[in-house]
Amino acid sequence: MKTHKLLFFKIILILYMIISFTLGVCGQSRNVNQSQLIMNTIGKPENPYYSHTDTTKLNLSDAEWKKILPEDLYEVSRHAATERPFTGKYWNADLKGTYYCAACGNELFRSEAKFASTCGWPSFFEQENEKSTVFRKDSSLGMIRIEVLCGRCGGHLGHIFDDGPPPTGKRYCMNSIALNFMPD
Ligand code: FE
Repeated sequence: MKTHKLLFFKIILILYMIISFTLGVCGQSRNVNQSQLIMNTIGKPENPYYSHTDTTKLNLSDAEWKKILPEDLYEVSRHAATERPFTGKYWNADLKGTYYCAACGNELFRSEAKFASTCGWPSFFEQENEKSTVFRKDSSLGMIRIEVLCGRCGGHLGHIFDDGPPPTGKRYCMNSIALNFMPD
């Protein structure tokens, strides 16, 4: 009788552990995805040019950008500032989805092209389509680098290097702040 009771309590304990673990894990991932989704679907009422479908090129003045972009994004997008490594929201993110330009909404990268890089910035081996980005020679800070700009708004995104993984061997080294992620 005693062993039966003990066995019964053991089964209850195991069931309790399984149920609370499952609820905990699912609840957690749902929270992360939901908050990410909500953050990105609120839209940008202060930025009338932001669109995931309009591909018309934008040619706004610096003063106009300053009015519609948050200060940290404005500094990166319009003045090529660089966020500190390992501080951005996407450097170690691995959710499935699409990365858009945070300034104008242009489609830039798919998560399938993102790879784990040790540099501390979100890194991709290829852009989403041929209009996603454009390149420009950058000789600032005593280095010759290739700057990556948004193909629609011309905003600074980061730089591209030749030390990426196959199949392209490229590493688009981006600022998280210049990207806006939408999960699938
Ligand atoms: Fe853009």
